[in-house]
Amino acid sequence: MYDYELKKRIYSLFSVAWLVLPATVLFILLWRQIYNYMTTFPYYFKGFLMLSFMYALLLGSFLKVFDGVQTVYFHRVEPLLSLVPSILGVNFIFYMVTCLLSTYLVPVWGFAVLTLADLLMLSLIIKVLAHFRDKVLGEQKLLLIYAGHSKQEVKRICEGWDGAYKVDTMLSADEGFDKCKKAIKKHRAVVLCDLPSELRDKVALYCQEKNAAVYFVPGMSDMIFKNGHGLHYFEGHLIRKKTKELTMAQRFTLLSYLKKVYRGSIETLYERAQEVIERGGKEFIITANPQTFMSALSDDELNELLLKDEVLTVPDGYGLIVALKLAGFGDYQKIAGVEFAKLLLKMAEIKSLKVFLYGASEEVIRRMEEMIKRDYPHVVLAGAYNGYDHDHDEIMQKALEEKPDIFMAALGVPAQEKLIAKYYDRFEKGIFLGVGGSFDVLSGYKKRAPKVFLDLNLEWLYRICTEPSRIKKFVESNLYFMFELKRIKSIQ
Ligand code: UDP
Repeated sequence: MYDYELKKRIYSLFSVAWLVLPATVLFILLWRQIYNYMTTFPYYFKGFLMLSFMYALLLGSFLKVFDGVQTVYFHRVEPLLSLVPSILGVNFIFYMVTCLLSTYLVPVWGFAVLTLADLLMLSLIIKVLAHFRDKVLGEQKLLLIYAGHSKQEVKRICEGWDGAYKVDTMLSADEGFDKCKKAIKKHRAVVLCDLPSELRDKVALYCQEKNAAVYFVPGMSDMIFKNGHGLHYFEGHLIRKKTKELTMAQRFTLLSYLKKVYRGSIETLYERAQEVIERGGKEFIITANPQTFMSALSDDELNELLLKDEVLTVPDGYGLIVALKLAGFGDYQKIAGVEFAKLLLKMAEIKSLKVFLYGASEEVIRRMEEMIKRDYPHVVLAGAYNGYDHDHDEIMQKALEEKPDIFMAALGVPAQEKLIAKYYDRFEKGIFLGVGGSFDVLSGYKKRAPKVFLDLNLEWLYRICTEPSRIKKFVESNLYFMFELKRIKSIQ
């Protein structure tokens, strides 16, 4: 055991050196070639030595802060994720230092090239190091003890762990403490997944006795238990409520929303919707993004909806996909509301279904009507009303009379969800979907982000560039959301 810890430490030091040294050499070579003579007092040998030392120190510190010096991790992307802010941060600081030394704004392209070269080179080095680590330290074999989930469900979460950890034994807590003890003795690390608190305490103590590391799959109770130190830090923010940070209860709620997110593809969702229509059932679908979740934290009605079993939350937004991964729920696929709405129209065309549309401006809704008549001639359009000039309740009465198979509301979050929720119980059948700004796009009134943005998961960037008024909303929801998720992760 101690031998392993020692090896881990040596490897850790070695890997930091292999990240910091090449980056420092690259920096000094570039600085000497391009920037040295722009400064008021060019450096010679000792000056370069000092500069290298400072660069190395700063990069090492950044890597430490962003967890880049971890030896073992759950996902291969983790070291890369810490590398990007470290390199960007250090190169930005040294660019500023260079400007100060030169007393004017020196050209930035040198540092841009340096940053790209660093990222390329260090990504490669990380890959080589991971290979080397597997050889020296071997795979970290985990024992996973779980409760309250099916084996398949737990297995799916673990499949997302493509880093140094591999679950080699899975044990249901139902098998009893003695069996757990036997298995713990054979392992160096143990993951506890939603164990009842009494058993969890016993297992964690036993692991400590046997020097086995304990990890926790995010489960609310587990997070509170994890460590007193983390908990104090966590609760400290409850008191400092004047900042925009979330309270502990809100963080748990955020995790509950995440836990309920639909884990499937747009194709499986389509099949599910088709099945609902065929059997004359009904389904309420929320296409959620970080903004939906953040609004729900201060909106009781939306909060209740997101936690309701009969409401299906699908991840419409890359922010949610990243969050789910960060929180340890594994890999999810994005299901864009606009794409799903289009698929529903296709289904309606194939099956000659009744569709009711409510929301968006008069121009957009008329364009939607034309588009449906033109492209989906077999769709029975039971209603198409703009979202500005009508009384919501009157429109819903009309919808109740029409009994549509598909009802889409484009009123923005959370108005559309609340309206559906208010009348949902009075409908006997149908798919009910809040689609946000989808009518604007489907009608051709607004353009969706170009393919390259979609492929790179940068649709959000396109939207804030084309509609700068969204920046505030974006910062308030997406950025805080990510920030909170990072915090939740840090206490796991
Ligand atoms: N909208 C509406 N009535 C309102 C406010 C908004 O019909 O009182 C429409 C608006 O025209 C747009 C959609 O609701 O088509 C919401 O779009 P947004 O992009 O704001 O929603 P998001 O996709 O961000 O949820």
